[in-house]
Amino acid sequence: MNDYRSKSWWLESLPHTITPNPSLEGTQKADVVVIGGGYTGLSVGYHLKQINPGIDVRIIESDVCGYGASGRNGGFSMTLFGLTKGITKFRFNDEKAKSAHQYMEEAVDYLHDVITQNNIDCDYERSGYLLVGTSPAQVKRINHDFKIMEKWGLGGVERWSRDRLSAEFETNFYKEGWFEPRCGIVNPARLARGIKDLAEKNSAVIYEQSPVIKFEKTAPSGFIVHTEKGSIESEYLVFATNAYSILFPELKNLQLPAFTHIVISEPLTQKQYDSIGWKCRAGVEDARDLIHYYRLTKDNRIVMGGGDVSFGYGDDLNRDLNDRIFRLLETHVLEVFPQLKGIRFTHRWGGPVSITLDMAPAIGYLGKDKKAIFSLGCMGHGVSLTTLNGKTIAELITGQETHRTDMFFVGRKMFPWPADPISFGLENAIRGFMKLEDKFYYK
Ligand SMILES: Cc1cc2nc3c(=O)[nH]c(=O)nc-3n(C[C@H](O)[C@H](O)[C@H](O)COP(=O)(O)OP(=O)(O)OC[C@H]3O[C@@H](n4cnc5c(N)ncnc54)[C@H](O)[C@@H]3O)c2cc1C
Repeated sequence: MNDYRSKSWWLESLPHTITPNPSLEGTQKADVVVIGGGYTGLSVGYHLKQINPGIDVRIIESDVCGYGASGRNGGFSMTLFGLTKGITKFRFNDEKAKSAHQYMEEAVDYLHDVITQNNIDCDYERSGYLLVGTSPAQVKRINHDFKIMEKWGLGGVERWSRDRLSAEFETNFYKEGWFEPRCGIVNPARLARGIKDLAEKNSAVIYEQSPVIKFEKTAPSGFIVHTEKGSIESEYLVFATNAYSILFPELKNLQLPAFTHIVISEPLTQKQYDSIGWKCRAGVEDARDLIHYYRLTKDNRIVMGGGDVSFGYGDDLNRDLNDRIFRLLETHVLEVFPQLKGIRFTHRWGGPVSITLDMAPAIGYLGKDKKAIFSLGCMGHGVSLTTLNGKTIAELITGQETHRTDMFFVGRKMFPWPADPISFGLENAIRGFMKLEDKFYYK
């Protein structure tokens, strides 16, 4: 078994050591098989059972539920769909970009409901999301997004002036802010384990430590999924593998994993906390290309992530650790809050986010009969999105037509990444361009 605890502070500090569920053994049959026990897969299982308790759904996870991005992320529940509003508008159109934003607002509100109505113990704080401009070019970018929201006739966002920001934070770094009160922060690994419990309470069956090795189509319809020790036959198959989808030849080039990294400090003393302000406790991001995202934990550690990304070559999914980026992140904490000089950082980790060529998420189908469904491309914004996507996928499987199943990104046209080494070169060229923009323009 891979040591899940080494994959993030969130996983290491779970209140109980995980005893994995039994792995898949023997030959089984089910109505729906879901590959992947992150938020997406667990949410599909939970919602299928909510819609129809009689459905036999089995979730197969290669390690333990929450081992992937769901147990390692920054924990921001936020409304951003894809990379930026501008890119989504450019790739699709204004109307679709607006509907994507509304879907994300629903996703954030829905995650709030799932957590609070089911008492999921995940340190949830509805403290908002704050996008800060720390340079004139970043302020311009934020103003551009305000104009888009105005054009769409959507509210839900407050403009925070420099004075307003100074009342909340003791830093000279912030020039202008975009504040969304509906957003929040969670302890991501606790959320993943909480949704696992919820799915199981609703009688979804979950196998852990069961990597899927391959699947086959059966005639006239249906699938057989194989693990090392067992197999399951089913009518429907869901790939809830997001960045790990690269491991399946059929999905390989539809997305690529990019690795984002996080450092976490020791808990702040009351004196240190008072010295930085951060009264609103909102999760904060800056408006560069290669953003920094940072937040407080329940016990007032500072989590700082982003700053740069790294890519794997081929199927390499082990780019979690990058000392250079970890050092950059630790330095950035002190750039924003120099008064924390001497603070210790206790853990460093990373994980894969799923990037499509057009930088937008997708729910899609393998095959014309629409019985194999995948979800990928959640970028670094999947915490709220995946939970709602799980509901949408459950609706697709049970034949319900809702505004969610009608969304433009369900069954949308996708452009594959080229094969390596071209895509590796392309990814690094895009990253290089972003780095240059950040250095000379967004600084
Ligand atoms: C460091 C980091 C920071 C992030 N910060 C944020 C944030 O603050 N806010 C936000 O909204 N999003 C954030 N994200 C993105 C977010 O975490 C993801 O979009 C989301 O967790 C994806 O959930 P998922 O269930 O689709 O995929 P995952 O959680 O990755 O789940 C996929 C699962 O599939 C399993 N699997 C893989 N291969 C197989 C196989 N062969 N057989 C069986 N199982 C398999 C994996 O073990 C994994 O558990 C961040 C991501 C990272 C890595």
